[in-house]
Amino acid sequence: MDNFDADLVVIGAGVIGLAVARAAALKGRDVIVVESEDAIAVHTSSRNSEVIHAGLYYPTGSNKARFCVTGRRQLYAYLDAHGIAYNNCGKLVVAHEDEEAGLGDILARARANDVEELRLISGDEARAIEPALHPGLTAAIHSPVSGIFDSHGYFLALQGELEDKGGMIAFGTPVKAGRLTAEGVELDCGGAAPTRINARTVINAAGHNSIDLARRIDGPHQHTLPEPRYVKGSYFSVLGKTPFSRLIYPMPGRASLGLHLTVDLAGRGKLGPDAEWLPEEARPPFDYRVDPSRAEHFYASARRYWPGLKDGALTPDYAGVRPKIVGKGEPSGDFMFDVVDSRLVNLIGIESPGLTSSLAIADHVTSLLD
Ligand SMILES: Cc1cc2nc3c(=O)[nH]c(=O)nc-3n(C[C@H](O)[C@H](O)[C@H](O)COP(=O)(O)OP(=O)(O)OC[C@H]3O[C@@H](n4cnc5c(N)ncnc54)[C@H](O)[C@@H]3O)c2cc1C
Repeated sequence: MDNFDADLVVIGAGVIGLAVARAAALKGRDVIVVESEDAIAVHTSSRNSEVIHAGLYYPTGSNKARFCVTGRRQLYAYLDAHGIAYNNCGKLVVAHEDEEAGLGDILARARANDVEELRLISGDEARAIEPALHPGLTAAIHSPVSGIFDSHGYFLALQGELEDKGGMIAFGTPVKAGRLTAEGVELDCGGAAPTRINARTVINAAGHNSIDLARRIDGPHQHTLPEPRYVKGSYFSVLGKTPFSRLIYPMPGRASLGLHLTVDLAGRGKLGPDAEWLPEEARPPFDYRVDPSRAEHFYASARRYWPGLKDGALTPDYAGVRPKIVGKGEPSGDFMFDVVDSRLVNLIGIESPGLTSSLAIADHVTSLLD
C-alpha cells in the first residue's frame, strides 16, 4: 500500500467539500479532495431543487438560518463574479385561510433571520402576479431575493479555483477507515490503488456517509455522533409550458419545505421533492428511481395551489435523499459541525439549504481551522 503525507484532506467532492477545499486553498493550505466516485457532485449536490433560498424557515440563530442568509448573499456575488447563470425570479409561499397563522409565523421568523424585502400580500395580489394560482388562496409571502441557478456551473467554478491554487481531486478514492494520531489523521483509502494518507487535517464532507465514516475514524468523537436517518425526495417534471414565473411553495412540513413548483433556467417546470422516510436501517447507496405511483399525491398536493394542472402532465423525473440527524416527527435538525480539534472536523446533516449556504459553511469551517 502506498503511503504519503498531506496537509489538508477533504473527504467528498460534493458542493460542501468543493467549497471548503476552495476556501482552504485560497487561504494557502495544500488541499487534496478524495472522492469515491469518478466525478464531482454525483449525489445530493446534483439531486436537489437548485433553489437559492432566502432563509425564511429556519430557527433564528441556528446554523441553517445564519449560513443560508450569509451564504445566499455570497452566492449571488460569486455567480456574478464568475459569469454563472441564475434567475433571481423570487418566490411565493402561498396559504389558504386556515394556514394564515402559520404563514405569519414564517414571516416573523424570516424577518428575525434578517431576510430582505419580504412582503405579506393578499391572495388577490398574489394572483395579480401569478394568475394561475388557486382562487381560494387568501395570503402569500413574496420573497424577491429567492432564485434558481446553474449549480453545475458553480461546482465547476469551485473546482477550477481549487485547482488554480494547486489543489487536486483524487477520484475513485473511497476512504474506508482512519485514526487520529499525534500529528493528524491517518486515512485508509481503497480504490484501484489502495493508499494510506497521513493528513495534518481532515474535513469529512462525505454527505450521506459522513456519520458512518466519522465512526470509522478511531477517536474520542465516535460515541457522541447522532444516528443517521434518511428522507427521500422525488420530483416529477411538468410537461408543456408552466404558467408561473416565480417559485411557488405551499406551507412547509416538518421534514421538507412542501411539494413546491420550480421553473428551471430553461423554463421547464418541476414539482417536488416530497418526503418519504426511509427505514431506520437504510444506508447508502440509495435507490434514486422515482416510483410512478407517487404521481397521485403530487397531483393532489399541487392542485391546492395550481388547480389548472392537467391530468397526464407529470412524468417521474429524479430523486435525492436528505441526510437527517433527527427522526420522523421531531423538529428539523441543524447543520452539525463536529469539531474534534484542528485534526478532524466532521460535517453532519448538511441537508437543505446546504447548496445556498455552501460558501458560508466553507468560511466557517476554514475559520475553525485558523
Ligand atoms: C431533495 C433535495 C432538495 C434540495 N434542494 C435544495 C435547494 O433547492 N437549495 C439548497 O440550498 N439546498 C438544497 N438541498 C440541499 C443540498 O443539495 C445539500 O445540502 C448539498 O448538496 C449537500 O452537499 P454535500 O457535499 O454535503 O453532499 P454530496 O453532494 O452528497 O457529496 C458528498 C460526496 O462525498 C462522497 N463520499 C461519500 N463517502 C465517501 C468516502 N467514504 N470516501 C470518499 N468520498 C465519499 C460522495 O461520493 C459525494 O460525492 C436539497 C437536498 C435534497 C436531498
